[in-house]
Amino acid sequence: MKLRGGYNILLKGRPNSEEEVLCDPEILYLPLQSPRFNFSELCVEDGQQVAQGQILAKDPDNFFVPLLAPRVGTVRLQSVESHIVLENIEQKSEEAIADSKEISVQEKSAESKRKKLLDYGAWQFFYDAFEQSLPDPAKAPQAIILSILRLEPFGINGDAIVQNNLPDFIAGLEKLQSLIEYQPVYLVMPDTKSELTRYVREKIKGKAWVEFMEVPLRYPFDNFTVLARSLGLKRGSENPVWGIRAEGLLAVNKVLSNSQPYTERIISFAGPGVKIPKHLKTVPGYPIDQLISDRVTCEETRVINGGILTGETVTKKTKGIDSECSRFTVLCEHTEREFMGFAMPGFGKHSYSNSFMSLVRRKFRENITTDLRGEQRPCVACGFCEEVCPAGIMPHFIHKLLYQNELEEVEKHRIDLCVGCGLCSFVCPSKLELGKQFSDAHDLIREELHPQSSEPEE
Ligand code: SF4
Ligand code: SF4
Repeated sequence: MKLRGGYNILLKGRPNSEEEVLCDPEILYLPLQSPRFNFSELCVEDGQQVAQGQILAKDPDNFFVPLLAPRVGTVRLQSVESHIVLENIEQKSEEAIADSKEISVQEKSAESKRKKLLDYGAWQFFYDAFEQSLPDPAKAPQAIILSILRLEPFGINGDAIVQNNLPDFIAGLEKLQSLIEYQPVYLVMPDTKSELTRYVREKIKGKAWVEFMEVPLRYPFDNFTVLARSLGLKRGSENPVWGIRAEGLLAVNKVLSNSQPYTERIISFAGPGVKIPKHLKTVPGYPIDQLISDRVTCEETRVINGGILTGETVTKKTKGIDSECSRFTVLCEHTEREFMGFAMPGFGKHSYSNSFMSLVRRKFRENITTDLRGEQRPCVACGFCEEVCPAGIMPHFIHKLLYQNELEEVEKHRIDLCVGCGLCSFVCPSKLELGKQFSDAHDLIREELHPQSSEPEE
């Protein structure tokens, strides 16, 4: 399938390739919920001393994926709602952790290695490419898509991660292959002729199972569903397509090479509200208030867990970095509106419709705040949403069908193909929340029209 649609949003606040290692805080706040997981099965008691890498809780609905203790510490269960708090924390040396978790000699098969990744905290870096959920470690995939791209502002710079960890990246590729039998690995690189790609190619010479894939650098062509469709792969519950990114590959390598639980996280801390946007190396549970203090440019900020199009605003209830977090986007809250802004020529603004004078400028990055998008209006049938949609559906038409509550018609117009990239909402001049509306409608269709059945086929 040909890649279609897409649009790049040029915003100020991209992270540079620098990686700052954060010192341990005095206390860790580990959220029991993250975008995909709900760690409802507690494995520790209040006041218990835990070792680094020990299982604190599990998600029974996601193959018992564990929430691991990132450090040695004392557990507090009641002090913050929906969090496990770790006090008196202390970091163990790598050797000490290895001593406490011996490598089992039976762990030779692909399936046992996948189980090990699950127990040691690296399996959560895998995605079912079509469902965006955690794949079943017991089932072999039909293919793996390994992507080092992050095109939605302001993701981790995969290139920088690979550059900074080249030997581990190459070793990780071998480890990835040991998880499967003969299925291919598609390696998605930003430029298949770059120095970096040449180096990787040289190092994996003769390994026919890796196929290089170059895609246009346009959002959302880094989306696993879009990539899987463009490769002609089909959704399948028995043999899914796995998606994994550069940081996940490093986690796989670490767990399978050293037999140590993986509890580190590299996150991008970026956006127009950040003083020096960069990558931070830290652990889940790091206090968000501490992360923000001194690193932002404005007093009132909106912190988004994820990108500006697909992320969720962090509420006051969430105290620490969740176990899936890979980026925070920070915007300045309630920036003053431009007086008579609509009448300004707009040399400093972008618009998909090219309606501002910025059209005559060279490429530049815009400063976005939480106030710049205006109010909702009815659909004006401009067709921009259809133009940018990578799924090839008609968001404006589906929006109207949903307004009339025509769920059968909505389904016929293939709302199931929506990949949730949020681009339609971004380009819409009427500010309609199409992406959010479609994800709600997707659930409604499943509940009302197919209460017993699974997903429709691709
Ligand atoms: S309809 Fe879905 S896939 Fe298409 S642009 Fe909107 S969110 Fe993206
Ligand atoms: S972009 Fe917005 S206004 Fe334009 S057709 Fe789509 S829904 Fe309607």
